Amino acid sequence: MAGDQATFQGKCLCGAVSISFQHEKPTLSACHCSMCRTWTGGPFMSVESHTEPVIDGAEHVRSYPSSEWAERCFCSLCGTHLFYRLRNGGFHALAAGLFKDGASWPFKLQVYIDEKPGNYQFANRTREMTGEEVVKLFS
Ligand SMILES: [Zn+2]
Ligand SMILES: [Zn+2]
Repeated sequence: MAGDQATFQGKCLCGAVSISFQHEKPTLSACHCSMCRTWTGGPFMSVESHTEPVIDGAEHVRSYPSSEWAERCFCSLCGTHLFYRLRNGGFHALAAGLFKDGASWPFKLQVYIDEKPGNYQFANRTREMTGEEVVKLFS
């Protein structure tokens, strides 16, 4: 059995939706793709959950099918971006800002670095992947 799984809890701005997930060692990722930037107004900062997160207030969650294989979910009451998930269930990128603990997670990865606009740049040193590399990883 896996050892030190901790449970992390977060909620949307209005509090109608709470999300919890388990992880041994959460890390932060940023996606610079144009869809994430349109969705969130900037790079999408997320934490990956390998298992299905537990959602309280699921009746308030709406989803937008942003592609054939993935959807983007948000709180229908306050508009908070909640998560991006693959429809096959194998991958959830939860919005890091929902979680108080998120402030202590190390920032490790930036994806779609080739779609990042030139007018900002994180000072953190992270692994970087292009869109093509990400697609290869998931196919
Ligand atoms: Zn809400
Ligand atoms: Zn993206």
